[in-house]
Amino acid sequence: MAKKILKRSDLTKLVASVGKAGGAFVAPKAVANGLVEYVFIKKADEIEFDYIVPGKSFKEANFPQTEVVARFKNDPEGVTVEGVELNPPRVVIFGARPCDAKSSESLNSVFTWDFIDEFYTKREDAMVTITVACTTGDNACFCTSVGIKPDDTDGSDLLLRETEGGDFTVEAVTDKGKAFIKEEKAVFTEGKATPKERTIFEPRKLDVDLEKIGEYLKDTDHYEGDLWADMARKCIGCGSCTYACPTCHCFDITDEGGFSETERRKNWDSCQFDFFTLHASGHNPRDRQYKRWRNRFMCKFNIYPGKFKTKGCVGCGRCVRVCPVRLDITEVMEEISGA
Ligand code: SF4
Ligand code: SF4
Repeated sequence: MAKKILKRSDLTKLVASVGKAGGAFVAPKAVANGLVEYVFIKKADEIEFDYIVPGKSFKEANFPQTEVVARFKNDPEGVTVEGVELNPPRVVIFGARPCDAKSSESLNSVFTWDFIDEFYTKREDAMVTITVACTTGDNACFCTSVGIKPDDTDGSDLLLRETEGGDFTVEAVTDKGKAFIKEEKAVFTEGKATPKERTIFEPRKLDVDLEKIGEYLKDTDHYEGDLWADMARKCIGCGSCTYACPTCHCFDITDEGGFSETERRKNWDSCQFDFFTLHASGHNPRDRQYKRWRNRFMCKFNIYPGKFKTKGCVGCGRCVRVCPVRLDITEVMEEISGA
């Protein structure tokens, strides 16, 4: 396929074309007080181009914070259960960052592991992920320390690189991406001159050894080490780090409603909540915050890579930015690496 260019001015046409075909367009937008989030947009002039990573990842597009998965009716005839048939529209994610795109592999692994969760997979199949390589970052970014590049293509259907003039070069990564270019050929044009690309951003490089971290976590002698208590002393268990994290995927199933009509919902949950592992008996195997904090770290750097061979952490830095008490996961990564 010849090299393609996407002109910034053609985004208006692209947003309109996706909408006309019944699809939805998600892009970074400045929502309030300098905060940028991935949201549904109707017009290209809503897109924010000056951002590092949006506050939350775009996982809500295929893993909504709350959704109905079944309904029950209870009447004198008995209980009727209705399933929910999902036919999601195409959703184009524009302006994804490479770390977020990479996290899709991790979510795919979980939601297709021992059970195919169609509420996730159908949405994922209907998504087209258009990533824009990073030309900027902040002190919280650390993707290269977990093996990801600021212009990585993994998890993207198309990778765009910004040019000096504000347009984009286009790299088709998947067949889905190639098909999208064909469908939208009016906006993906052949460039006669190669635009000069900006320097790709180099995030801070941590002094970490992921293999060593994995081995340290496998050793049960380290399970009750002081490290966890020292680190987690400040943690208030708010769960912000898990909600903002692109790879965190825990959910709970709750029945909500009244006696005659009830909805069964799938809701985001957080391993940082004190009732997350609370048993019906009253026993809680993670009854202290340090155990919950340790679990999150274990999940990212031991359980995930061992079970799925994908990244439990993509170095987006969101958990560092959102934590109200400034707990920084990279401090533990560095401490264990230096141990
Ligand atoms: S653990 Fe933190 S830095 Fe790693 S992917 Fe999740 S939010 Fe991003
Ligand atoms: S955001 Fe910070 S305080 Fe809140 S649960 Fe995560 S580590 Fe704890």
